[in-house]
Amino acid sequence: MDHSDQPVQFLDLKSLHRPLKDELLASIAEAIDEAVFVGGAAVLQFEKAFSDYIGCSRTVGVGSGTDALKLALQANGIGAGKTVATVPNTFIATAEAITQTGARPVFVDIDPDTCLMDPEQLEERAKQQKIDAVVPVHLYGQCADMDAINRIAHRNGMIVIEDAAQAHGATYKGRAAGSLGVAAAFSFYPGKNLGAGGEAGAVTTNDDAIADKIEILRDHGQSEKYIHEIEGTNSRLDALQARFLSIKLRHLDAWNAQRCLIADIYDGAFAVEKHVSAVKLAPDQIPSRHLYVIHVPDRAAVQQQLSEKRIVTALHYPIPLHLQVCYSELGYKKGDFPHAEQSAATLLSLPIHPEMKASDAERVVAAVLAAL
Ligand SMILES: *Cc1c(COP(=O)(O)O)cnc(C)c1O
Repeated sequence: MDHSDQPVQFLDLKSLHRPLKDELLASIAEAIDEAVFVGGAAVLQFEKAFSDYIGCSRTVGVGSGTDALKLALQANGIGAGKTVATVPNTFIATAEAITQTGARPVFVDIDPDTCLMDPEQLEERAKQQKIDAVVPVHLYGQCADMDAINRIAHRNGMIVIEDAAQAHGATYKGRAAGSLGVAAAFSFYPGKNLGAGGEAGAVTTNDDAIADKIEILRDHGQSEKYIHEIEGTNSRLDALQARFLSIKLRHLDAWNAQRCLIADIYDGAFAVEKHVSAVKLAPDQIPSRHLYVIHVPDRAAVQQQLSEKRIVTALHYPIPLHLQVCYSELGYKKGDFPHAEQSAATLLSLPIHPEMKASDAERVVAAVLAAL
């Protein structure tokens, strides 16, 4: 059968969940019978399973990836008067988490090939000002150069918190994203590689003191009921999300492998094209392939032509954070981060998800090449 009239979706959660539907419904029914909706055994069970998966000692489930970042920073003493380095080419949540602790974000430019934090830029910044923490972003599912970043952080007294919201299951030199810094933040927003049936996130860490502190912070700062030595927030993981996540976690590796097959088709096709450059992979990595991003000269035209062929694309992210109006007070200007700006101007995210077929990827490749 010819599927060329079918749209190539950017993401297809309907198909992803279809084979799991009975299991998910049974688990929701169990939750209703149990009537434990926030915290409880289902949450503990998921936290344990996720720790085992990442290879860390503790997972603390929270309300979102944004909260995971914020609470991880707070639990490490980041707040008013502190500075936190990150990259400008990320989802705004990375910077929001920093400012919402009261700290000030300091941007550093990226490596133009990988689109990840350039450790040399971080080191340069650290010579010019005190930086208290750094949040490398494992953008598109590829880990930042954590050995270099950890080395610089160690020399300069910075805490390292990974933004692993796009990197569930990715590895760096054989170690999982989420186990490479002091703590890491995951998002389980439905469109991520491991997604809940709503909003959810988690912090992973090997440090019991940090995990204990986040358990208190996520629950209004309570160490015991109505005892508040510190002020926290309401960011507990709910049991329905934990149940959803426990079921889906068992499929994560297979889904990521499927994403890698699609990415391999794209890589093979674009390697020989001089007008398309795919984001490069650093050695010793297995990416989670959350997004597949290429850089093309006339992006609007390419996107338009793909859309006419019913191929859905997206932009991650078209305006770097240092140029966002809400951060104008930070005093950055156009030209401050040329690599991040260049990437933002030419990037295009192609469809990639576990339900995609090789023939879909081939259709996307043909459409991109025709558009050029
Ligand atoms: C999705 C995402 C977040 C935020 O996660 P939420 O669960 O949506 O709050 C943070 N950082 C990056 C890089 C993301 O992609």
